[in-house]
Amino acid sequence: MLKVDILFSSSSGNCTLVRTEKTQILIDCGRSARAVCTALREAGSDVGAVSAIFITHEHADHVAALGVLCRKKPIPVHMTEKSAAAMPEKCRPDSLVVHPREYSETVGDIEVSSFPLPHDSADHVGYVVTDSCGDSFGIATDMGHVTESAIENLSRCRRVMIEANHDEEMLAEGRYPPFLKRRILSPRGHLSNSDCAELACLLAERGCEAIALAHLSPENNLPSLAYSDVRCALDSAGYRGCELTVADREFAVRLPDGKTNCEVISYAEN
Ligand SMILES: [Zn+2]
Ligand SMILES: [Zn+2]
Repeated sequence: MLKVDILFSSSSGNCTLVRTEKTQILIDCGRSARAVCTALREAGSDVGAVSAIFITHEHADHVAALGVLCRKKPIPVHMTEKSAAAMPEKCRPDSLVVHPREYSETVGDIEVSSFPLPHDSADHVGYVVTDSCGDSFGIATDMGHVTESAIENLSRCRRVMIEANHDEEMLAEGRYPPFLKRRILSPRGHLSNSDCAELACLLAERGCEAIALAHLSPENNLPSLAYSDVRCALDSAGYRGCELTVADREFAVRLPDGKTNCEVISYAEN
């Protein structure tokens, strides 16, 4: 079974560790090399154990640690050609592997495939990760709206990490300038808690067992609000069995194991 640790996630930095007994990969590499190395150690891993990094898109909260981290160890970094071309020079690793928007790659005993997502970056993809037993995990954050392709790809996954970026009221009443509010709300911006709740119900209906809410805005959302909005929607639609957790912007959060879980892990509602 895939073990998934969301090392940190918010609009200020994102990094997720996905591993089997044999293989470890990172998806996104934001904040700083120091933050990534510390979080990896806290999750019982090490940068030396990471075989590949997959980058969803070139925004700083997803690539800021890449340049320094890959000078320490030249880990292959997979991203789309357009995102690679638009990435800030100081983040650019020498070990870049560019790929089309829809792509599959095998790393050790893990298969990673990408699918396009709508966002205001040069390019943007989500990833589906599958192990040799067929266990699957999907990641899709930074999406302005939910597309058929996102639903189709995430529906293949037993567990997912999806975006609950903002509470619409908090964003409307908050201190962001109007142009930024418009950007966040646009079809190439970010998903609100209520958009996320709708997507969560759709995925639960198609068999998703565990959901992590990620990429929360520190300014326009609260973990408790995101959790309760999505939990209420799942419960009232009859999906009480679908596990839910909220990624933290500072600390690693383990994605619940879903129905195959044999040990009980408790999660703070944070
Ligand atoms: Zn982002
Ligand atoms: Zn972004």
